Parts: sequence; C-alpha cells; structure tokens
Amino acid sequence: MCGIVGIVDAGGVSIQIYYALYALQHRGQESAGISTFDGTTLCKFKGQGLVADVFSPAVLKNLKGTVGIGHVRYPTTGANLPENIQPLNFQFKDHFISIAHNGNLVNTAELRAAYEQAGQIFTTTTDTEIIAKLLIDEITNSGRVEDAVALCMKRMQGSYSTVMMIDGIIYAFRDPLGIKPFCLGKLEHGYMVASESVAVDALEGKFLRDVKPGELIRIDAEGVRCMQIAVAGKRAHCIFEYIYFARADAVIDGVLVYDVRRTIGQKLHEEAPVKADSVCSVPDSGTAYAIGYAEGSKIPFVESLMKNRYMGRTFIMPSQKERERAVRIKLNPISAHLKDKSVVLVDDSIVRGTTSKRIIDMMRDAGAREIHMRIGSPAIKAPCYLGVDMPTRQELIASDKVEEEVRHNITATSLHHISLDALVKAIGFSRDDLCTGCLTGCYPLPIEGESAKPRLVNFIDGTFQSKLELV
Ligand code: AMP
Repeated sequence: MCGIVGIVDAGGVSIQIYYALYALQHRGQESAGISTFDGTTLCKFKGQGLVADVFSPAVLKNLKGTVGIGHVRYPTTGANLPENIQPLNFQFKDHFISIAHNGNLVNTAELRAAYEQAGQIFTTTTDTEIIAKLLIDEITNSGRVEDAVALCMKRMQGSYSTVMMIDGIIYAFRDPLGIKPFCLGKLEHGYMVASESVAVDALEGKFLRDVKPGELIRIDAEGVRCMQIAVAGKRAHCIFEYIYFARADAVIDGVLVYDVRRTIGQKLHEEAPVKADSVCSVPDSGTAYAIGYAEGSKIPFVESLMKNRYMGRTFIMPSQKERERAVRIKLNPISAHLKDKSVVLVDDSIVRGTTSKRIIDMMRDAGAREIHMRIGSPAIKAPCYLGVDMPTRQELIASDKVEEEVRHNITATSLHHISLDALVKAIGFSRDDLCTGCLTGCYPLPIEGESAKPRLVNFIDGTFQSKLELV
C-alpha cells in the first residue's frame, strides 16, 4: 500500500512529482517524499503526513533537476518511523542513488539475516533497504544495472513495483508476477512511471502502457528503453486493487477499475436481488458498485450517507477506538432519506467489520427500517502478505465465520458477498492470473505456513532494446 512515481522531464520535475503524488494520495497517507537530481546533487525532502502538508512551495523550489522520484507511504513492512520514509537515499562511490518501492517482500527476514551475518548494518526496518543492498551489491560486481535487477528478481520473493534513480537515470521494474500495478506515460518533455494511470492523467500526460511483469524500464534525457528480465507462466495481479485499493478512474493492466466495480454491482443484484426503496453506497469506495446495483435492479440510487471530504480513510487510524470514532465523523446519515425506508447498502469489502456495524447502527438510528448489505468482494478469509494492509486472521471478521454469522455480527437485515466467479469475470483475467490470497488463503508464491500455487518464472538474458516497445 504505497504509491510511487518517477519522472524525467526537461522542464523540471519537482512540481510534477508533487501533483503525481497528490493523485496517488489514496495509496498512502502516512508520509511522503521526493528526491531529485540536478546533475551534481541529490536533492531530497520527506516528512510525515499528507502530500499537501509535507511539501511547501519553497521546498519544491529547492528540489531542483530534470529527474526525480517520489513516494507516498502506508506501512506494510517496517514501522511508522521517520527513517522508514521513502525514497531511501544512498551515496555509493561517486553515485547518488534514490529508491522507492510499492509492495512487500515475503523473504525479507532471510535476506536481512544473511547481510547481518556478514556484518552489514541497516538504518531502516523496511524491505526497500534490502532491495537497495541487493542492487548495489550486484552493480559493484558487474557494473550493469540490468544484471543487478535480474539478480534482485531471482532473490526476492514477493511484490515489488520499484523505481530507482541513479544519478540522472530512472530505472523502473515490476515483479515477474505483476502483483502491484505500475504504468508508463509520456509527458510533453519527457516520460514518467507511476503506480496508477491517474498520476499520468493528473499531469495531462499520455498513458502509454503498463510496465510488464518482470520488465525493466530505463528513462533518461534520451528517452525510454526497456528489457524483459523475467517471464512468468501466469501472472498474479492483486485482486484487491480492483476491489478497493486503486482509484476507480485508474486503468490497471488494461482494465478500467470503475467498470469492474459497476459490473460487480450489477452482478450483486443478479446474485442477491431484494425489494427496497433505494440503493445507497458507502462513499466513496462503494459508489461504483451501488450505481451498478441500482442499474441492475432499477431501484433508485439515493445518497443517504454524506461523506466529510476532509477526512482520510478510516483504516489509517492506528487504534480500533479511534477508527470507530472516525467513522462517525467521516459519514453522516441523511435521516430524511432513510426514515422508515428499506435500503440496499453497498460497499466494496468487509474487513474487520467495524465500519459496516457502525454504519448500520447509524442508519438504524436515523430511522432505516431494513438494511440489506451487498458487498463487492467475496468474504475476506486470510491476511495479505504482498502489500495490502490486511490484518491477521483473528482480526478478519469472516476468517472463521459463515456469511450468516457475519450478517448477525454487523446486524444487517440481509447480507451478500459477490461470488469469486462473478468478480473474476468482471475483471476479465483468468483466475490463475490474479492473486486471490486474501479471499482463498492460497497464494501465488510460497509463504511459510500458508498454501500456495506458485507460478513458474523464467529468466531471460537480455539487453535493452533501443526503442520503446509499445505492446
Ligand atoms: P472494516 O470492515 O471496518 O474493517 O472496514 C472495511 C472498509 O475499509 C471497507 O469497506 C473498505 O472501504 C476499507 N478498507 C478495506 N481494506 C482496507 C485496507 N486494507 N486499508 C484501508 N481501508 C480498507
């Protein structure tokens, strides 16, 4: 759960990185950072909080150069510590290196232990520092970044969309299974990579394509070159990006997230129709689903929960009590729309169950007679180890409960989760090209104590193609 961006643009990059991070703010609200290179110096600034709070115009002015990378962070590996804020910056001989990463390695402990055994020290608790160490080790051996990335890909297990700046060059690579999103765009005077296409849109750039799973892209003042380093038989795109995490207006791996959610809403109606006065969403994450449900059922879509736009995502609150209070501040029920009404309430997912229960309580207090909950994901049964902050099994309300027990817990009149089949169909990939670990407990790579259906990965000895391949 992080957002990354890398830009090379002859017109300067700091303001553009700032706006790109703004567009990716939903991917992490804990901290933000930007590093740029002006030909001789690595300029950097990072801090805790939202993008708009961390950077001032004066700070952006000091981030000079035509090359830079940025990051917004929501921690998955590594605690909420100032030293963990990315990009991480290093000086190695006379080279300046900055690196930012979205994803989660599952073999961090093992890799870190090997380095510590050899007497190496670490300054952060993030897996990003491990990636940096692996890369720099191999750059020292072979002198070629592409060899270093290939070696990294062989040794790292997990999800990693990574952007790295070495002096004036940007390198971007994505794990062979393509777990986390990553895309490439063209700007007026340069190129960019970003976690989601919405960042390219924000800069009025042209979306070119996704970074391919297992691909390395190099961007400098001359343009873009790419090379395929690894190819997996099957991919494992994160299904939760489509369910909740990505912005609805993002196009990920060729699929518009909004349309997936709207189609699921229609399917929810087919799978679990109900007589009601109105369809209402939990804004904003449930809205596309609710619109789909309203279209399918011909029941009017009526906003009955009003969102305070100035509140962040409620998950972001560290303690359960704070999260509960935050829901009340974030959402206000409109009594006039709810009094004595039977309502279909649509949301993207139930994780701990706290939000749904609080919302249902509020809507009942506001006079709703019946609340039929419809959920755009199947029940979440297992934790995520690959980059989404999905808690332990004990905290997941559905991990040990059938749907009727969850319904009873959240006190809904009725409850239905979309079937996995309908969800997969709405996304349009084969089920084997998606990571469904949180829904099925079966992961696309080996994870200690969990079951897995590992994808085979082949490595290719390649060189950079001189021309950008658009397909
Ligand atoms: P709860 O059931 O109380 O845990 O809250 C579930 C709601 O939080 C969902 O409807 C989503 O909108 C949102 N959500 C789901 N997963 C996450 C996550 N990993 N991080 C932040 N918010 C999430």
